[in-house]
Order: sequence, then C-alpha cells, then structure tokens
Amino acid sequence: MELKTYTSEQHHIRHHHIDPQALTVLKKLQEAGHTAYLVGGGVRDLLLNKKPKDFDISTSALPEEVKKIFRNCLLIGRRFRLAHVRFGKQIVEVSTFRSGDPTEDELIVRDNIWGTPEEDVLRRDFTINGLFYNPLDHTIIDYVGGFEDLQKHTLRCIGDPYVRFKQDPVRMIRMQKFRARFGFNVQPEALEALAACRDEIRKSSPARVLEEILRMLESGASEDFFRLMVESKLLHILFPELATFFESSMGETLFHYLKGVDNMNTRGHYKLLDRSILTATLIFPILERSILDYPSPGPHLGQIMQMAYELIERLLFEPFHHFPRRLRLESHAIIALQYRLTPLGKRRQAKERVLRQKLFPLALTFLKLRSLVYAPLFKQYEFWKKAQKDALNQNSE
Ligand code: ATP
Ligand code: MG
Repeated sequence: MELKTYTSEQHHIRHHHIDPQALTVLKKLQEAGHTAYLVGGGVRDLLLNKKPKDFDISTSALPEEVKKIFRNCLLIGRRFRLAHVRFGKQIVEVSTFRSGDPTEDELIVRDNIWGTPEEDVLRRDFTINGLFYNPLDHTIIDYVGGFEDLQKHTLRCIGDPYVRFKQDPVRMIRMQKFRARFGFNVQPEALEALAACRDEIRKSSPARVLEEILRMLESGASEDFFRLMVESKLLHILFPELATFFESSMGETLFHYLKGVDNMNTRGHYKLLDRSILTATLIFPILERSILDYPSPGPHLGQIMQMAYELIERLLFEPFHHFPRRLRLESHAIIALQYRLTPLGKRRQAKERVLRQKLFPLALTFLKLRSLVYAPLFKQYEFWKKAQKDALNQNSE
C-alpha cells in the first residue's frame, strides 16, 4: 500500500478539537527530537466528528526516553510496554512504534519489538484505526487506505482477516463493536474469516474479552452489538446459555432492555450507567420470565433471590470465571431490591428501610430503565424518586 498524506484542506481536524494535554505531550516529544503522532481511535473519531474517549500517542522514543522527558510518567505493562503520562486524573498513553509480523498466524504473546511508523500501523486491527495525525504540519499520514475507508464507511482489516483473527481473536469482537457503533459495511472476506475463526475466541484472555463486552454495554450501541454477537455466534461460545435466551422467544425483550440502556447511556453522556446495572440488565428479564413460569402461587421473595443468584452464576460466572465479584454481588442486590420497589404482592416494605439500603440509588436507576421498557412503571419510579428526595431533605435539615 502506498503512503498517502492529507493536508488540513482535505480534513477538518483542528487543534481545538484535541485534548490540550495530548498536544503538550506531542510537542515535548517532538522538541526532544523524536517523531510523535496522534494515532488510533482518537484520529478516527475526530475524522468522524465524534468526541474521542482518549487520545493515544505513538512515538519513536523508547519507554525509558519518554520517562526522562516527563516527570509525571509511569511505565506499565509487560506484554505491551507503555508510558502513562499523568495530568491529575487524566492519563495520556504513549507507546513506542512497534513492529510485528503481520503474516504470522500464531497467537501473539509478546509485543515489544520496536519498529518504524509504517510497521506500527501494520500491526493495528482495522484501516480506520491505522491513521496517524502529525500536529506539527497538520497532516494525516495513511499507510493503509484508512482515510478513504472512513469516507466510504467501510470496515476493513489491515492485512488478511483470517491471519489477523488467528493472531488475536479479540479482533473479531472489535469488528462487531465498530460495526455496531458506526453502522459501517464490512469487507466480505472479514465476515468469512470470522465464520472460520470463531472458535479461536476461546484462546483469548478472558479479561480482555470481558472488558470489550462491558465497554460495549456502556457504548450507547449495545443493542446492535449484541445482535451482531448473536448473529455471528460469538456469544454462543462465550456465554452459551445467555445466547440461547437471546435466540428464544424472549430475545426481543432482552434487546428492548438493551435499547433502554443505550438511551440512558447516550443521553447521560459522561455519566455512564454503573456496570452492575448493565450486568443486571442481562439477567432481570430472564428472571421475570422464570417467575411468570413458576407454578402457582408463584415464588416468594426468598425463592426469587435464590433464582436470581442461580441465573447470575449459570449465565455469567460459570462460563466466565473472571466475572468481577463486585459485579456479581451488586447486580444481585440491584435485582433483589426491585422486588421491594415494585412488590409482587400487596404488602409494601417500610419505605425507610428500603431507602436505607446501600444500593438503593443504583436500584432506583434500574427501575428507571425498567420504566423505559414498560411505561406504567414510571409512576413507581417517580414515587421512589420523590421518597429519596424527601429523605435527603430531611437529613440535611
Ligand atoms: P475505543 O473508542 O473503544 O477506545 P479504539 O480503537 O481507540 O476504540 P482501543 O482499545 O483504545 O480502541 O485501542 C487503541 C488502538 O490500538 C486502536 O485504535 C487500534 O489501532 C489498536 N488496537 C487495539 N486493539 C487492537 C488489537 N486487538 N489488534 C490490533 N490493534 C489494536
Ligand atoms: Mg481508544
């Protein structure tokens, strides 16, 4: 692929769109005589007119050299050594240009061989994620045709999709993530490769897989993402029983809940729903169905707690032992509290006792989500919202 550059007349990235701290890091690296570019998702999102989540930097400076330039710098990672430059709570990630053999189809285990900017791009996943931006002369540097692919709304692997998925199967999940997020078309060879390499996902680090999935639940595009994960059968490999629920008669209900999550996440922007709420979203509709199917007169509260516990274990924890303990406990508590906020029978719990529960605020947010799925619940939500406000006012008096 030939190198193409695009000047500021051909793209609309302006420096006030870029995080000032990332610009400072780029400037200092270049003043010290190194090459340094903005890279990856940040450049892609700027070109798509979206606000980037993070700004990553690629440089010719070695991690130790980066550390010498910035006092507030920490070197992290062994498999993938990186420099984190800190500005208060914010971190700018700086990685040294790396090379890797893009034709090698073994699973990658180490990734610390330094290389040229071109080599660095060739080991990235998709062409739209392989663009550099040089702030010095305002140019986009494109070794892989990513600029045109962005304009054509095409998702294309860098290199042979089959080889790239074998090297790192998490890329298959990332492909579904970018399809869901941007609604792009995908090159047909990548879909064929996914069908052939699907099972390899088992070889990936569970922590990375889980992180990509949880991030997608937070993304505002979780409904489409889960549709693609079900359609491609990746979900069947990772969470087999959950996948069968998605394919059953209640699949649309689950998607409906995810749509509610997407609505809340995109409206709230910076205030993402807590991950325990997102996990609860996958379990609660299934629990509700089991309660309906329970022999008359239906389960009592203790049995419902037990059913919720077992569903979380079976659907999420058994296939994925890395499921964080906090998420398991808190999503269970959020679900359990729903039956005190909206009791099945006539008996109401003492309001004060419910309000005192540690996870009441999260349970209330979950009730709001339920009211997006089933509008008559909105009254209940407002009742508890008011109760919460009154209690807060009383405490501050
Ligand atoms: P997001 O907006 O979700 O952060 P992103 O593309 O920035 O999307 P990151 O996980 O932040 O994703 O990764 C940053 C960059 O690193 C990517 O844009 C891509 O160039 C590269 N990258 C990430 N994961 C992989 C992978 N599995 N294989 C190859 N390159 C990758
Ligand atoms: Mg990113």
